[in-house]
Amino acid sequence: SEQRTGEMFRRAEEHTAHNYHPLPVVIDHAEGAWMTDVDGRRHLDLLAGYSALNFGHGHPDLLRVAHEQLDRLTLTSRAFVHDRFASFTEALADLCGKDMVLPMNTGAEAVETAIKVARKWGYEVKGVRDGAARIIVASGNFHGRTTTIVGFSDDPDARDGFGPFTPGFVTVPYGDLAALEAAILADPASTVAVLVEPIQGEGGVIIPPAGYLRGVRELCTRHDVLFAADEIQAGLGRTGRTFACDHEDVVPDMYVLGKALGGGIVPVSAVVADRDVLGVLRPGQHGSTFGGNPLACAVGEEVVRLLATGVYQQRAAELGVLLHDRLAAMVGHGIVGFRTRGLWAGVDIDPNVGTGRAICERLLERGVLAKDTHGSTIRLAPPIVISADDLAWGLDQLAAVVAGS
Ligand code: PLP
Repeated sequence: SEQRTGEMFRRAEEHTAHNYHPLPVVIDHAEGAWMTDVDGRRHLDLLAGYSALNFGHGHPDLLRVAHEQLDRLTLTSRAFVHDRFASFTEALADLCGKDMVLPMNTGAEAVETAIKVARKWGYEVKGVRDGAARIIVASGNFHGRTTTIVGFSDDPDARDGFGPFTPGFVTVPYGDLAALEAAILADPASTVAVLVEPIQGEGGVIIPPAGYLRGVRELCTRHDVLFAADEIQAGLGRTGRTFACDHEDVVPDMYVLGKALGGGIVPVSAVVADRDVLGVLRPGQHGSTFGGNPLACAVGEEVVRLLATGVYQQRAAELGVLLHDRLAAMVGHGIVGFRTRGLWAGVDIDPNVGTGRAICERLLERGVLAKDTHGSTIRLAPPIVISADDLAWGLDQLAAVVAGS
């Protein structure tokens, strides 16, 4: 029966702000790539918490360290040091090939951190005139929901009604190196950072032209500007490499990480950079009560350990071939185009077949959970632990739905 789902869904809507438009499903428990709702129906998860669940639901290694840590020590605040802090930050710095880590909680906080660090670096190291620091961002970006961040979004839903906004941001078309160079050259002495997603997730898994990230790196180096890569959704295995920047052998000055860093268990985000960048912060200039807490560090360190094996990156790359080939066969049969990198896809639905939302509702009826982004595009980001058979089954359901059967 639908009894529990309907009742719980209505109650949830009744007493919460409607800042989301969830699909009408109420999840009770989950394991691996499968979620079970409160009426006992099983659903294949093709969203993975917007890539926060790269390692799947209830990964045994992550659960084990979380349970052990829960029983021993959960929070100290940064007023004191705890015994998990050094090992997590060392491991993460090592994974990134950088000197230092600044742990926060959510993605938006890590982006805010990168912005503050870039500005401080600009004034103290680059010698930017006081109050003049400018940061270049890309059209179609999604970096989070704080007032500063939505101020440089060009999505009207994200920004309209939330001003006035923080000044100091310049937007250029995503993927356009000439526009980026022109924007830097408009005031190179005041430009402190270029902040971009190596692949735009919320934008619909938009992959920039080959050579773009390399070009961003070169322009930043040439003009003494920090390259801050927002790898919150793209990073940590999703694309078949540890970082999306790895596909062009590019190393940014700042990695901005979140989502999967918390293993789908706790919010963990971080900015990772070398000492000449993160070293500009001194006591009192930035912080977070929960950032780098013992539970977060325990889970985060285990996430880094899982990634250091390379198993998940390889699996995402292998399953990505299946994903790509199945989607290619749907072009002209209900989808008009798609983009994949690793186990990540943006799928453009033929508008004649229905909106992305309508397709996701029909997928739900077939036991597949996915989410539309921007009208007619669906994003697929299954947990990397998904089996090839389950992925193929999920894509069979998508093929049937978009074909109108
Ligand atoms: N940056 C990117 C690229 C994201 O995809 C997201 C979330 O979707 C964020 C930042 C914000 O992360 P959070 O929702 O944890 O604040």
